[in-house]
Amino acid sequence: MTDQTPPVADFQLVTRPGEDQRTEYGIPLAVLAELTHRCPLQCPYCSNPLELEAASKELTTAEWFKIMDELAEIGVLQIHFSGGEPSVRKDLVDLVRHATKVGLYSNLITSAVMLTRARMQELADAGLCHVQISVQGAEAALADRVGGFKNGHVKKLEAARWTREVGLPLTINAVMHRQNLHQLPQIIDMAVALDADRLEVANVQYYGWALKNRDALIPSFAQVEETNRIVAEAQDRLAGVLDIDYVVPDYYAQRPKQCMGGWGRQFFNISPAGKVLPCHAAESITGMEFDSVRGNKSIRWIWDNSEAFNKYRGTGWMPEPCKSCEFKEIDFGGCRCQAFALTGSAGNTDPACVKSDLHAAIFQQAATEAAEEQDRFTYRNFSGGALEAEEL
Ligand code: SF4
Ligand code: SF4
Repeated sequence: MTDQTPPVADFQLVTRPGEDQRTEYGIPLAVLAELTHRCPLQCPYCSNPLELEAASKELTTAEWFKIMDELAEIGVLQIHFSGGEPSVRKDLVDLVRHATKVGLYSNLITSAVMLTRARMQELADAGLCHVQISVQGAEAALADRVGGFKNGHVKKLEAARWTREVGLPLTINAVMHRQNLHQLPQIIDMAVALDADRLEVANVQYYGWALKNRDALIPSFAQVEETNRIVAEAQDRLAGVLDIDYVVPDYYAQRPKQCMGGWGRQFFNISPAGKVLPCHAAESITGMEFDSVRGNKSIRWIWDNSEAFNKYRGTGWMPEPCKSCEFKEIDFGGCRCQAFALTGSAGNTDPACVKSDLHAAIFQQAATEAAEEQDRFTYRNFSGGALEAEEL
């Protein structure tokens, strides 16, 4: 499933001897494979595009096998099966088995509500290496409301236990926002109780469905400060027990995050219909063309040569203030999708940066929306979204 945080921390740049030109952009170690946009949940912050890909357009089993063969051949080491919900694909075990066969480390990024104990065992037997389960809160009532799926929370806890029972390492991914931040201490306790190796505390990033729901999700500045304190305290207290990764909310930051490790530098994503994307949200940038594995070009060619990957690669494309900024090779100007969403051009400085002319305005907008407490979600679905029913 595609929550807010593809496992970028796992992506490292490899440069192999003899690589020509863009040696600084050697093939990434890992790739995110979005098997489907279908998902039983309806999270209002889902990072899938607003226009979801129909099941009929999805890559076939044979096409994914061929992709994995090529990934292994060009030096990719890890595949992260994601979506939507990857377990809606009947061939998931076969895909994992093929990944194992060609020597790819495999990770399942899942909402977990459709898994059974037997299927978890089958996945482990097929060679699955790691499971990441998303949670929407610590208490069932809130978590099920956020995900728009009844009894989902209980199922997630069950699947997390099965993950450990079959001997697989477990990451819990908690997407945080105004309406669930108060449960963060319990979520941390829950991750420990589930014997997770890692917890990702990922504040919502605002593009796609999350941008549509920003007024219902954006935290207040005070909440963010309290979250920083809770995370720092837990990281300290749980050192050696639970690794805690923390993604801070952009709108209240001083400098933007190094999104995807820099555009076309450390990451690529394959969409359900086969588009090769520099970022899982890249399709939110309208007017940009992305090459597909269904065309006549190899993945290696697309990575090296495609217009989409080269457009915002490195620092040459940057306008001021990034162009002459000391941090330009650290954050690469921030997130292109966020720049597009907030300024209308993906080629602008990300307004999360304090040096952007728009920074003060987005900070203020965030604070205003948080104070207004409009809490109704627009749930993610295939027909453009569904507004949450009003509480009676
Ligand atoms: S709806 Fe929720 S669970 Fe499903 S893919 Fe989106 S974020 Fe993941
Ligand atoms: S001006 Fe650009 S490069 Fe400098 S900190 Fe801001 S976003 Fe990063």
